[in-house]
Amino acid sequence: MHHQVMDSTRINQPDSLAMNDLVEVAARFLVRFSEPASLQRLLAAHTPDSTGHCATCRTISGAAPWPCQLHAIAKHALRAPTPG
Ligand SMILES: [Zn+2]
Repeated sequence: MHHQVMDSTRINQPDSLAMNDLVEVAARFLVRFSEPASLQRLLAAHTPDSTGHCATCRTISGAAPWPCQLHAIAKHALRAPTPG
């Protein structure tokens, strides 16, 4: 018997695990309600600028560090299998 080992087990920060769950849920939502072209556009918009920050995301203190959450979600959604 083989037990499936989750990739996220190598991440030892509780916050990262919670964030992974959030990305997973958001990615599933995107896959279900968005077309692949929309995901590609999202991914293309959220690229790093010359300072290593997201070119699209802005926070109250300026540009968001890249990879930003939207990039992570879009990338995850593009890799996810079609919903069943
Ligand atoms: Zn972004």
